[in-house]
Amino acid sequence: MSSFLDRLGVPRRINAAGTLTRLGGALMAPEVLEAMREAAASSVDMAELQSAASRRIAALTGAEAGLVTSGASAGLTLATAACLAGWDAARMAALPDTARMPARMLMLRTHRNSYDHAVRLAGAQIVDVGHNDRGTGAGVRGLEPWEIESAIDAQTAGFVFVAGAGGAAGTGALPVVVEVMQRHGLPVVVDAAAQLPPAAHLRRFVEQGADLVVFSGGKALGGPQASGLLLGRRALVGSALLQMMDMDVHPATWAPAELVDTACLRGTPLHGIGRGFKVGKEEIAGLLCALERFVACDETARAEAWTQRLRAIAAGLDGAPRLQAVLLETRPGGRAVPALELTVGAGGRGDPAAAAALCRQLQAQDRPVHLAEDRLDEGVLLVNPIALAPQDDAALVASLRAALAQGAEGPEAASAGGLPAASSP
Ligand SMILES: *Cc1c(COP(=O)(O)O)cnc(C)c1O
Repeated sequence: MSSFLDRLGVPRRINAAGTLTRLGGALMAPEVLEAMREAAASSVDMAELQSAASRRIAALTGAEAGLVTSGASAGLTLATAACLAGWDAARMAALPDTARMPARMLMLRTHRNSYDHAVRLAGAQIVDVGHNDRGTGAGVRGLEPWEIESAIDAQTAGFVFVAGAGGAAGTGALPVVVEVMQRHGLPVVVDAAAQLPPAAHLRRFVEQGADLVVFSGGKALGGPQASGLLLGRRALVGSALLQMMDMDVHPATWAPAELVDTACLRGTPLHGIGRGFKVGKEEIAGLLCALERFVACDETARAEAWTQRLRAIAAGLDGAPRLQAVLLETRPGGRAVPALELTVGAGGRGDPAAAAALCRQLQAQDRPVHLAEDRLDEGVLLVNPIALAPQDDAALVASLRAALAQGAEGPEAASAGGLPAASSP
């Protein structure tokens, strides 16, 4: 009997590239699937389910409250909407029209990235602060308090900080940002979407004073692909939840979630800006189960198991032509997931064109293979074990060996890479 994916004609890929959204994110454990299955077969009150989620997230992360979103990107939009609207039902109804409310979100210039769109989606305008001297190598300056101070005015609504961005210089700026924004009574949102593992990071940013933090559920947490966490201060999480919930309710019978402070509301809000980020009961149950498993996991043992697998893969590649494999081990405070660094090119010198050709060859196989391409421009490809099913390890080695044996003369390698001149999405 053929599988459902087989019937659809969609090949299952060997994913050594990490929990990439375009490759479907994480692989879920059977326990997580079971939690989703149970939720899928039941009717529940979504407000009660998110209230329970908030209690579990708070207990596991040390935050005052939390909610399950449809992803970290949705979490950024909801977090911004919470900063802009608070408990004001009229502002909730107005978003993304921010003509009548403070709507400027500050961001470190070095933190700007394509998820800025999620912040702008709520109606906010992003205002850059600081310089990029360390980034460009032009100087030694990091962010200083006066640079934030001078950007704050009556239109400022908060700060968006991207954890892990800009190297040590960028990350070290969070305490400075928190100190200045707290002094002005303004919230700090941290995008920590991909900052896991280690599990300690689930607590870290709240401990450092962030008001709201977002994490992706479909990356290292191992939850449903279309899920994420938004956690932090109770009132802000409550506002975010209210702007996401279905509000087709009768004011006379509305039973709001625990997090919703009805004393602060002037009435019953309408569907908010987050209504399109509907999160299913299945995602909520699945992500909570995944979060519990992630927190309970023995991280040392997990890293050791990944390392053993990568060593075996490296051994399997021994002697392959034009390839050099080096194990990148985990270390405390640094790399949390080991990787295998594959330098593609003759004589151990990375050749970007050869690495790109190898990727195309691997992706054109019957069972397509994906390696991490972050360092392709150095001629380096990475084997990331986090979303690589153990039963695919041997096939990965065989595919790599076959592609390398076919070599640079192969039909795929000869063609130029990149997009065709006129490509359709
Ligand atoms: C992946 C990522 C996101 C988006 O996460 P989703 O859960 O896919 O929405 C946002 N910000 C950063 C920095 C990310 O790496």
